[in-house]
Amino acid sequence: MDLNTLIKLEIDSRRDELVALTQDLIRIPTLNPPGRHYREICDYLAERLARQGFQVELIRAHDAPGDSDTYPRWNLVARREGAAPGDCVHFNSHHDVVELGHGWTRDPFGGEIEGDRIYGRGACDMKGGLAASVIAAEAFIAACPDYHGAIEISATADEESGGYGGVAYLATKGYFAPERVQHVIIPEPLHKDQICLGHRGVWWAEIETHGRIAHGSMPFLGDSAIRHMSAVLTEMEETLYPLLASKRTEMPVIPEGARQSTLNVNAIHGGAPEQAPDFTGLPAPCVADRCRIVIDRRFLIEEQIDEVKSEITAMMEHIRARRPGFSYEIRDLFEVQPTMTDRDAPVVRSTAAAIEAVLGREAAYVVSPGTYDQKHIDRIGRLKNCIAYGPGLLELAHQPDEWVGITDMADSAKVMALVLAELLAP
Ligand SMILES: [Zn+2]
Repeated sequence: MDLNTLIKLEIDSRRDELVALTQDLIRIPTLNPPGRHYREICDYLAERLARQGFQVELIRAHDAPGDSDTYPRWNLVARREGAAPGDCVHFNSHHDVVELGHGWTRDPFGGEIEGDRIYGRGACDMKGGLAASVIAAEAFIAACPDYHGAIEISATADEESGGYGGVAYLATKGYFAPERVQHVIIPEPLHKDQICLGHRGVWWAEIETHGRIAHGSMPFLGDSAIRHMSAVLTEMEETLYPLLASKRTEMPVIPEGARQSTLNVNAIHGGAPEQAPDFTGLPAPCVADRCRIVIDRRFLIEEQIDEVKSEITAMMEHIRARRPGFSYEIRDLFEVQPTMTDRDAPVVRSTAAAIEAVLGREAAYVVSPGTYDQKHIDRIGRLKNCIAYGPGLLELAHQPDEWVGITDMADSAKVMALVLAELLAP
């Protein structure tokens, strides 16, 4: 029997185990924020992987944002050496899940099964993918015990809040250094027949317009920061949004609507602060002396971050040139460069071949509209041979009644195990 056939049989025989593992992971409520039960999920996986011959390390991201003795940021890195030197293939999953929100009809931490689905917070994003990668590694090891190189599995904190207590921390400690790891697969829910090559860039900034306070009955004695901001928003509608819509990308971003530059105004605040809901008084009449918006600009691999920023500055200067009393400030909050792994990279080619072997159809190549932990592996780890690939539908992430398909997980596990065979079999 050839190795690939043997691997597929090994995974078929582990189907119940795959389901049980996914349920166990869902039942550990690793909510972030604030970051609950991180140690528990790392201990659970460490115990399982140690039994499979992995060297396990528990790493706390001391002093990372959010880390405290109440909510320590625990990460697990497990490594299993092969029979001879060779490449290392690393599967990285985040173990945190987002808040529940409203609208659940299932127990969010029950791991309920109905038909081919397992329900629960994190089922698709991304405990199903984590479970699939563990089963893939175990099945591959059983089928090919004399493999070369090494297999690593990590379960990391805080992806949902930026990854600074997780992958970013590990990357600064050298865990993703090219001399240690050569191939990375992040089993985020991009669906079993798609390879995610990377993501668009991000720039968050706060824009503030200035005014002068005065009595609301005599606004001409002051200067309204809100009216200045409305000039900014009008200019955005009239010139900026059409400009952004005209910037199309060669990146295969999904959904299609994100295949261009985009900008969202996340928040707007101006004038008197809002009172607590139990306050029963009336507001005081004042002209607003400050107004702020937070913008979320997503940019393309064809754009430079400097151009993205100067586009906004140019727009503000254009308004200032014709609007008396207009003054403003722009403050940077956060930025991430776009990244896109080459289609000829070894991990991409191996995964594409494995998808074809398991599913009998060609892999689709996609790029994520938003960022994920690949940003840290790329920027801090300097490792370019990285993709996201895993079971589940991205649209279900962060939704009530989130679920993952059992057959999808099993198929993805086969793909991941075949990638191991391609890259590590002697
Ligand atoms: Zn995720």
